[in-house]
Amino acid sequence: AEEVGGGDKEVVREYFTNDGFQRWKKIYGDTDDVNKVQLDIRIGHAKTVENVMKMLTDEGSLQGVSVCDAGCGTGLLSIPLAKEGAIVSASDISASMVSEAQKQATEELQGRDNIQMPKFEVSDLESLNGKYDTVVCLDVLIHYPQNKADGMIAHLASLAENRLILSFAPKTLYYDLLKRIGELFPGPSKATRAYLHSEADIERALQKVGWKIRKRGLTTTQFYFSRIVEAVPA
Ligand code: SAM
Repeated sequence: AEEVGGGDKEVVREYFTNDGFQRWKKIYGDTDDVNKVQLDIRIGHAKTVENVMKMLTDEGSLQGVSVCDAGCGTGLLSIPLAKEGAIVSASDISASMVSEAQKQATEELQGRDNIQMPKFEVSDLESLNGKYDTVVCLDVLIHYPQNKADGMIAHLASLAENRLILSFAPKTLYYDLLKRIGELFPGPSKATRAYLHSEADIERALQKVGWKIRKRGLTTTQFYFSRIVEAVPA
C-alpha cells in the first residue's frame, strides 16, 4: 500500500482514531450536542446514504448481494445494507470507527430475523482484497489528493464485479466551499486537509481501469456537498 496514502494516510489514521473519531461520532450520531454546522453535515450525510441506498435498490433486491463498504466509519451505510439482505464486508482504517460500527450494528441488527450481521474489519482500503458484487466508498476521497485518489479508485474497481459507488466533495463548488470546508476540520491540531475532486478527474480514473459512470447524484445542504457516482464495467 506504499504507493497510495503514504504520509497523508498516517495523519488520517491518527485523526480518525482519536480527535476525529470523537468529532465524527458526534456528527454521525443522534445526540443533540452538535452545533449548527455539525447538524447540517449530519443531515447532508444522511441524504447521501439515502441516495446511495436508492441507487442500489433501484437495480434490484440486495438480498444475498455481497457489498464491500470501504471506509465504513460508524456503519451508517453498512447497517441499512444489511437490513436489505446484503452480505456486508465493512472496513475502516480507524479501529475506533470499526468498534463503534460494530457496536451500532449489534444494537440495531442483532437477533433480527433474516439479517446477516456485517463482517467488520480494521483495514485501509488499499489493503482490501477479495471480490464483491458491489463496492461502495462514501466520503473517504475527501482525505486524499487526486494523485492518491487514482490508485484508490483503481484498487476499489479491482475488487468489484458489477458496481462501484463513490462519493466525493465536488471541485466545481470549490471557491464557494473554501470558507466553509474549514469548518469540517477546525482547530490547530487538525492537520487533515480536505481535498475536493473534479468529476472529470474521477471519471478519467475510472476510465483508465475500464469502468464507466452509469448514474450520478448530488447531495447538498448548506455546509455539505457530495457528488455520488455509480460506475460499472465499460
Ligand atoms: N463512509 C462512512 C460514511 O459515509 O458514513 C464514513 C465517512 S468518514 C467522513 C471517512 C472515513 O474514512 C473515516 O471513518 C476514516 O477513518 C476512513 N478512512 C480514511 N482513509 C481511509 C483509508 N485509506 N482506508 C480506509 N478507511 C479510510
